[in-house]
Amino acid sequence: MDEQRAAYDLLVVGGGIAGVTTAIEAAEAGLTVALVEREPSLGGRVARFHHYFPKLCPPSCGLEINYRRLREHANVRVFTLASVESIEGDSPEIEVTVCVRPRYTNPVAFDYGEWAKTCPVDCEDPFNYGIGRRKALYYPWDNAYPPRWVVDERAVDDPAFREWAQGDPAGGIDLDQRERTVSLTVKSVAWATGWRPYDASKLDRLGFGELPDVLTNVIFERLSAPDGPTGGELTAPSGREVNRVAFVQCAGSRDKDHLPYCSGVCCAVSLKQASYVRERLPEAEIHMFYIDVRTPGRLEDFLQEREQDPRITLHRGKVAKVEQVEDGLAVTAENTLTGDRETVTVDLVVLATGMQPTAAVEKLAARAELDENGFFIQDDEPAAHYGVGTAVRPLGVAETLQDATGAAMKALQMARRS
Ligand code: SF4
Repeated sequence: MDEQRAAYDLLVVGGGIAGVTTAIEAAEAGLTVALVEREPSLGGRVARFHHYFPKLCPPSCGLEINYRRLREHANVRVFTLASVESIEGDSPEIEVTVCVRPRYTNPVAFDYGEWAKTCPVDCEDPFNYGIGRRKALYYPWDNAYPPRWVVDERAVDDPAFREWAQGDPAGGIDLDQRERTVSLTVKSVAWATGWRPYDASKLDRLGFGELPDVLTNVIFERLSAPDGPTGGELTAPSGREVNRVAFVQCAGSRDKDHLPYCSGVCCAVSLKQASYVRERLPEAEIHMFYIDVRTPGRLEDFLQEREQDPRITLHRGKVAKVEQVEDGLAVTAENTLTGDRETVTVDLVVLATGMQPTAAVEKLAARAELDENGFFIQDDEPAAHYGVGTAVRPLGVAETLQDATGAAMKALQMARRS
């Protein structure tokens, strides 16, 4: 198939777990699929988790199965470092222009791991949400797909990097690569554009961005992960020893000034993260401040297990402020029933920030209606553009997988119509 101009039954935008699953399910049902992901590797948010529900397994376990299915499927063409630039026309001939950014490496049978450590240039690491830095020549993550090294585009014009790259022992680095454009004709578009954590620096008086030991739940996942910036050690960014941790629920969610909806999963995420603390720091005190705990279905068992931990205290209260004090961070909450205030001092605060759909903060080329919060509104009738997973509503991974299977069915309907 000519890469520069090609026809597919389905375009999937977004290579997280929703997009990958949609692509595979559609391909296994007989459709040809183009999967476009803007990062250098597939995996999306799930790749950055330490463990994920429902089985609390590391991201490699679910993604590896999907990668194997992808590798076995000639019907799926994956474009990484790629984004949709424009969309014209309607099904069955939707014309899509995709921009593919350079990786600045060619595939070579060589592990750059040791040599990359000598790279003199490093860059902020978005995979770790800005905690820590990475070398300008980097491997996206342990289970990267495609399994390819990348040069950070911010380093390409750096003289120190260019000079160092001349010593490339395997000849894989290619700094002359340029952006290219690919034209696709597709019958429908599945928008698996996912979510991003709400910007916690917008939350007045909770200290994120000002107090080093106030983190968000997604950062805490990276701190807990063995491939994260601390190698999985739970240390406070200030260097303070961690003996007391507070989880602040609904940080920006269920709040008309921020995200008015419940993000659905962050209560369970905090309970899961409490178990990370307990595994690593058996004596640590854990405090969870909540308005009400939402753990639907089987997650209720998870809540009950945590409730039996004598060193976990659940506080009914909306946190009003977090302040630096001499012996840590003072978390002050107001009981939502009685109005009483209480203050607890801890070493680390984790804000359970909510899920905001990518479409709320970025303009997408989708020809689809969004609700006031940026979620895709699903048509009852088959449509040429449809959202998948967390592009439609806040969801956990298990529900996202089910939704992706439903999206593959929509793609089939659209393909069979033409
Ligand atoms: Fe708040 Fe829990 Fe809903 Fe998240 S899931 S918004 S923490 S109630």
